[in-house]
Amino acid sequence: MIGIVGGGISGLVLAYELQSRGVDVTVWEAASTPGGVMRSQTHGDLVLEMGPQRVRLTGPFRQLVESVGLADELVTAPTDLPLYVYHRGRLRRAPLSLSEAVTTDLLPLWAKMRILAEPFTAGPRDGEHAGPFLRRKFGGAAYRALLGPLYGGLYASDPDCMPVKYALQKTLTELGVRRSILWRMLRAAGGAAEAAPCSFKNGLGSLPSAIARRLEGSVRLETPVSALRRNGRGWEVTVQGGETVQAEAIALACPADVAAGLLGGPYPDVSTRLSALRYNRLALVYLKSEANLRGLGYQVAFGESLETRGVTWNDSLFGRPDLYTAYLGGMKNPDLPDWDDSRIAEIACEEFEIATGFTAEALRVSRTRIPAWDESWEFLDGIEWPPDLHVCSNYTARPGILGRIVGAKRLAATLAREFPRDP
Ligand SMILES: Cc1cc2nc3c(=O)[nH]c(=O)nc-3n(C[C@H](O)[C@H](O)[C@H](O)COP(=O)(O)OP(=O)(O)OC[C@H]3O[C@@H](n4cnc5c(N)ncnc54)[C@H](O)[C@@H]3O)c2cc1C
Repeated sequence: MIGIVGGGISGLVLAYELQSRGVDVTVWEAASTPGGVMRSQTHGDLVLEMGPQRVRLTGPFRQLVESVGLADELVTAPTDLPLYVYHRGRLRRAPLSLSEAVTTDLLPLWAKMRILAEPFTAGPRDGEHAGPFLRRKFGGAAYRALLGPLYGGLYASDPDCMPVKYALQKTLTELGVRRSILWRMLRAAGGAAEAAPCSFKNGLGSLPSAIARRLEGSVRLETPVSALRRNGRGWEVTVQGGETVQAEAIALACPADVAAGLLGGPYPDVSTRLSALRYNRLALVYLKSEANLRGLGYQVAFGESLETRGVTWNDSLFGRPDLYTAYLGGMKNPDLPDWDDSRIAEIACEEFEIATGFTAEALRVSRTRIPAWDESWEFLDGIEWPPDLHVCSNYTARPGILGRIVGAKRLAATLAREFPRDP
């Protein structure tokens, strides 16, 4: 049996893929519901997303959705929804194509001309951080108004603190970028149409729930793992309450600090490294407004004096009436998630009105966290994982949902070869 610690999307897809290859699995999940940060709740008739708001309906995602019987629940948004940036007093359309780059009023003409020099700038330098790298490639104005907020927003981080080596290089390589990002984008522009943003009628949390149902008795909810000990037959797993279970191999699909705690005794070096990884804490505020805005949402440009990092327009995306989700905190203000709900809600409402011109009422505030992919990732350099222990997580590989699905499938294929089903 392969034991999986954590029933977020990573652990569940790994288990599902292993089970479909005939490998015996057990998933231990600390919470009472599966999904980890990919959770949805309701407020009256409204679906609120506690973490991710949308995912692109690409091949691997669609395949998984169909295989767990959720295709009828899918909701998609138009592929041409615009994205905005709040900059210099109002929302301005972010250029997501070449023609939009020409017409956008987000950047002055000289900043657009500067972008055209990007193919003549060198690729990443040793030890360079994403902020300086993007400024060197595209110029300071495009960085502050567009690239910084968009890229940093994915991790709620400050790109000045994110080494290219950990946070960007892999993506650049996967995209086939050698020297010029712009050149690669231009070549891709004539290719396949971008996949539509999607969710489910009852929110993204439907997917982990459906996978967990398919796994039936193999997912144990409200069962946090409290200790891992290596022995001659693999790993002895102790769950809260003292029960022990033997596993041939372990996959850690839980947050880094939890993994650090579990490996603390016998593997102090691995544990110290894992516990050094920083997470960005975020506050999410669910806003109700009759703004009736059409688009994906907006990011706030760097240098603007707002606490809000960005707002997703759930109404326009998936027809969730009058719903908008604001993100505050992260590396921009790490202490903000500690503030009272009422204070955070008031700021989100005030700033929504500043950015959009429309009033909003706060329905609820929630909090979550996301790996920062900053300098603390240096601690993973040269880490030596214990034998028969694998990591399937958003702090060792791409954190987006699609990246998590692809990563989990890859690990499942490797483990299925190593631990084939009984003949
Ligand atoms: C606010 C936010 C917005 C995001 N937006 C997007 C987006 O729009 N699109 C996108 O593609 N991606 C997005 N992401 C990224 C993506 O959602 C996550 O990286 C991904 O869902 C992480 O899944 P995971 O299973 O690796 O980790 P997690 O979801 O963190 O799962 C880890 C699990 O381990 C469990 N656990 C903890 N301790 C124990 C223990 N002792 N024993 C057993 N289990 C334990 C936890 O309860 C949890 O269920 C977003 C992330 C966040 C936080």
